[in-house]
Amino acid sequence: MEVINKPGFDSALEETHAGWRTDSSILPDVSCIIYPMLEIVTFTLGPVLTNCYLVADAQRKEAVVIDPADEGGRIVDEAQRRGWRIGSIWLTHAHFDHIAGAGGVADRLNPLPPVALHPEDYSLWRMQGGAAYFGMRIDPGPEPTIDLKHGMLLHLGEYDVEVRHTPGHTRGHVIFFCAGQKVAFCGDVIFQGSIGRTDLPGGDYDTLISSINTQVLSLPDDTRLLSGHGPETTVGDERRWNPFLR
Ligand SMILES: [Zn+2]
Ligand SMILES: [Zn+2]
Repeated sequence: MEVINKPGFDSALEETHAGWRTDSSILPDVSCIIYPMLEIVTFTLGPVLTNCYLVADAQRKEAVVIDPADEGGRIVDEAQRRGWRIGSIWLTHAHFDHIAGAGGVADRLNPLPPVALHPEDYSLWRMQGGAAYFGMRIDPGPEPTIDLKHGMLLHLGEYDVEVRHTPGHTRGHVIFFCAGQKVAFCGDVIFQGSIGRTDLPGGDYDTLISSINTQVLSLPDDTRLLSGHGPETTVGDERRWNPFLR
């Protein structure tokens, strides 16, 4: 096969390479390179100050709502303001303070967003997460149709998010771990300096401690922990400082 050497091609290429090596004015400005990232908007909502996370692959504008705690309309407003499409609702567990905004989110979306929950929390979901026990009524939104299982991978844009079953606070509690972004949404399993309560139906202290040891403390120390209540922390900080884990 004859290779046709186009006049000027090689020299043009060389010039370009030389330019990249020597002329810093045409090098890309590093600060302008956009690396893909999950964007996370935190809301603290409802009577017991529950954290809800609106999480998006911002480049693809695909979002999910983790634990729509209350004021679903406000969560949808924020997504729309950012141009994000809410594709689904993921629940760490079915306590009323984590699901009370699901109806409000769903009311504003068409088609209805599928809801993901571990089947061992379905009965709790059907009881509106125990709302009546606290003298409340809520609209829990569409019935869950995505059965979460330990080890399952969920997808948000180009990110994989691992489901880890962490019973002890409720039977069907899960955490959502995105290894690519070193972040875990951990509901009411662990908080900064504390752990989830185990005195409600389905709770068990030894099971919770076991879940924390095997499913949370096994993550890298610099993993961000975004809890259902209170401030953000890390696996390393809780391993070192959490008084319940001594
Ligand atoms: Zn809870
Ligand atoms: Zn809670």
